[in-house]
Amino acid sequence: MRKLVFATNNAHKLEEIRAILGNKIEILSLNDIDCHADIPETADTLEGNAAIKAQYIYNNYGLDCFADDTGLEVEALNGAPGIYSARYAGGDGHDSEANMNKLLSEMKGKENRKARFRTAICLIEDGAEHLFEGIVNGEIINKRRGGSGFGYDPVFMPEGYSETFAEMGNAVKNKISHRARAVEKLCEYLG
Ligand code: IMP
Repeated sequence: MRKLVFATNNAHKLEEIRAILGNKIEILSLNDIDCHADIPETADTLEGNAAIKAQYIYNNYGLDCFADDTGLEVEALNGAPGIYSARYAGGDGHDSEANMNKLLSEMKGKENRKARFRTAICLIEDGAEHLFEGIVNGEIINKRRGGSGFGYDPVFMPEGYSETFAEMGNAVKNKISHRARAVEKLCEYLG
């Protein structure tokens, strides 16, 4: 069976893609290939950061690989937090409560609430780079609603829905999300 590295150790992401690909392609995590490097994400775009991670694996391990990067892009904030979504409130990042507090305070009084989640996936196959993008449009509401999901889910309401990502639950979210859309495109390509 063909093997492909997914440059992540995030169990949810691995489970999601393995479920879609079934037994067509074996997906290996960073742990599976014994890679414990902290790969610096120094690019100024989501695509660039995904490419850095995928290239690192291809160059150092000689394996076909893909990597993802996601950002929340808010129109009234000129696309912020974007590539800084995980560490918007500073520190080492991944403090969702602090990130949401900062976002809600930046959005105070703003009439334009339009936002989108965007995922870029970079696949390196035999040294050639392929990019896939998934977008979900929506808006930033005024205060948190819902308890499921992660990150900015409680304050993001996707277009065409009256529930936030955190209210609708993962089963619905994972069908319509930015990541699901990007992953679907990758899987279509991989056949
Ligand atoms: P990553 O590239 O998947 O690690 O995502 C970067 C950051 O974007 C995360 O730390 C979260 O703050 C945010 N993020 C990514 N995907 C989602 C999502 O599905 N819901 C809410 N926040 C997300």
